[in-house]
Amino acid sequence: MQPKYKRILLKLSGESLAGENKHGIDFDVVQKICEPIKKCVEAGVQVAVVVGGGNFWRGRSSGEMDRTRADHMGMLATTINALGVADALEALGVEVRVQTAISMRQVAEPYIRNKAIAHLNRGKVVIFGCGTGNPFFSTDTAAALRAVEIEADVIMKATMVDGVYDSDPKKNPDAKKFETITHQDVLNKGLAVMDSTASALCKDNDLPILVFSIDDPENIYRAVCGENIGTVVKNEI
Ligand code: UDP
Repeated sequence: MQPKYKRILLKLSGESLAGENKHGIDFDVVQKICEPIKKCVEAGVQVAVVVGGGNFWRGRSSGEMDRTRADHMGMLATTINALGVADALEALGVEVRVQTAISMRQVAEPYIRNKAIAHLNRGKVVIFGCGTGNPFFSTDTAAALRAVEIEADVIMKATMVDGVYDSDPKKNPDAKKFETITHQDVLNKGLAVMDSTASALCKDNDLPILVFSIDDPENIYRAVCGENIGTVVKNEI
């Protein structure tokens, strides 16, 4: 299989790193996710990664807390995951750089767009931590923003469902899966692909998203090779 894309932005939810426990990091699971990432790099694909933080903390589920502070905690959680994924990739012999949107220079590089692109051009995986660096945003929006900034060909959203459905497939056995759908329809129908801020950013910048299941991590490589898995969301279908 030959890769279809030259530069991808892979969005990994925090949940996908937690395995059965649904909380924290399961390093066996992370290693399995990192193996196809290595395969992509070896096939010459430039891989940037945005990681979520929901396996540790979500600002919007923090109850009575001040939302901005809760979101600061969420962004720190994404960095824990970024470091975990970086470690697993390095253990596989892949060169990695972590860049964070909130400076923590002793821990990671600060996010600098041109430097990120230079790393990618040298075949290093770049992992973006701290989301956008701003509260009230999500790591999906960070994925869309970084993908546009680094001029990625596509966002690969590796998630817990195998595509975009017209209703929740866990609740409705008759839910219909889309093979392709437009960003506009996702927004109009309020489908839970990404939050509306992220969807709008993808729509306005003509950035396609591929949504597929991470249950089988090899899907990452299949998706990069253009195999028909999951759902493609784009402007023109
Ligand atoms: N977050 C934020 N700004 C961002 C990205 C993330 O404040 O740009 C915080 C927010 O609290 C969010 C948490 O980080 O709930 C974890 O991110 P997200 O919920 O997107 O993670 P995922 O659901 O993908 O694991």
